[in-house]
Amino acid sequence: MNNAGKPMEESLDPENWELYRDTGYQMVDDMLAFLKDIRSQPVWTKPPSNVRAFLQEELPRGGRPLPDVYRDFLKNILPYRKGNIHPRYFSWVEGTGSFSGALADFLASSMNSNLGIGDHSAVYVEQQVLNWCKQIVGYPSSSAGAFTSGGSVANITALIVARNAFDKKQIRKRGLKGLEAQLVVYCSTETHNCIFKAVETIGVGTDNLRKIPVDEKMEIDLTLLRNQIDIDKKNGLIPFCLVGNAGTVNTGAVDPLSEMAEICRKEKMWFHVDGAIGALLNILPEYQKILKPMTEADSIAFDLHKWLYTNYDAGCVLIRDGESSRSAFIQEANYLAAHERGLAAGPESFSNFGLELSRPFRSLKIWMSLQEHGIDKYERLIRQNIKQAYYTGDRIKQSPDLELLTPVSLNIVCFRFNPGDLPESVLNELNKELMMRLQEKGIAAPSYTFIHRRYAIRMSITNHRTITADLEAIIENTIILGRQIIKENEKYGTYSPAL
Ligand SMILES: *Cc1c(COP(=O)(O)O)cnc(C)c1O
Repeated sequence: MNNAGKPMEESLDPENWELYRDTGYQMVDDMLAFLKDIRSQPVWTKPPSNVRAFLQEELPRGGRPLPDVYRDFLKNILPYRKGNIHPRYFSWVEGTGSFSGALADFLASSMNSNLGIGDHSAVYVEQQVLNWCKQIVGYPSSSAGAFTSGGSVANITALIVARNAFDKKQIRKRGLKGLEAQLVVYCSTETHNCIFKAVETIGVGTDNLRKIPVDEKMEIDLTLLRNQIDIDKKNGLIPFCLVGNAGTVNTGAVDPLSEMAEICRKEKMWFHVDGAIGALLNILPEYQKILKPMTEADSIAFDLHKWLYTNYDAGCVLIRDGESSRSAFIQEANYLAAHERGLAAGPESFSNFGLELSRPFRSLKIWMSLQEHGIDKYERLIRQNIKQAYYTGDRIKQSPDLELLTPVSLNIVCFRFNPGDLPESVLNELNKELMMRLQEKGIAAPSYTFIHRRYAIRMSITNHRTITADLEAIIENTIILGRQIIKENEKYGTYSPAL
């Protein structure tokens, strides 16, 4: 009870704002120092059991002061991070983020705008950045789109539009049952598994997804694709969507997009491009030629948290025909009806262009980064990563202990330790052990894949912090560890290299 005898009302705001200033400033100081010295830290440290136990504690009933909670973050959370801020992190395809991006997230989060609906600045920023994205990938300003959590949701969103656009009037009402025949989707065997999720989500089902084999460059085999489309048509099925890759996740391969676009025109199929990695390469003049057909696709999905190094999360989907995007999602709701004036006026809701209604202010970090650095700097950084991949490939080719498993493509290097006189049967196991040790020792974090059944140590360089010395470090340590593993294990034979 307060003095007036009324119940005290509570809020989450600080009682003493000055005290929170100190904690906030401390966080900024700590994170600045942390990122500045990141190279001297291990790339990855496994969360120990006491930390995992701490993170299984019961739901707190009462609270404790923010500085206490922050201390727990410093002790139990920060040291056991994934590591993708580190210059020797090369796993999967992950971006590095930036300190400016973190500050932008703080600003966006302080505003805490919900971009679902309304006439407010964040919506206009989002539109502006979306227009910049259209320009980057060469899409017309009349196209529609939205920012998403990532490439997966961007791809799924595009395929929902593709399905609904197939039969504008009926499919949203009756579902696929209303169609006279089964829809079929085509992609290469190297396609990211979010396309499989998408095909399941839109109700087509993976039995009706044709995964067409790839050639030696890991690009879709066009002859097999054409044959399969003919077979399906003969069987009374409806080929309705073809997915092309602008940069596959395994090897960075770019499918023959021009021929694929041609097939889609001829067969009246929707052409979707998964450009999660490669679409942003369109800012490099030397890639514009091979990516030109991407700009003719009906839809495209890409990630800004990969090659624009944007802090998570930032994916984007664009649909060439804005109207088909709108008609895939628009819903009437009296509580969301636009008004002529007031907060409910303003631009068309992004919920007409995707699945989300409530949406975070994802675009502020992209807007601020592009303002701060300019797109030319990103052009240089992406080119730098590609050069680093080719440099690594050349160093691997020069080393008698290492073997490049596919030609370097874009920013992806797939290789293995192979001193030459070991049987093929042990190489997979040896390289898996080696890859895990590189990570466990905190030296570097590559990931892995299989190339024609061979276990590959795989590096994807979407990292603005990487320098040549980091590449030398992973090469050198791969050789050292490979030799060490052979020495430790009799099963690898009597092979003993001169160290
Ligand atoms: C990363 C990636 C995806 C998935 O994107 P997320 O942002 O992880 O959801 C899809 N396709 C390709 C080719 C990718 O590299």
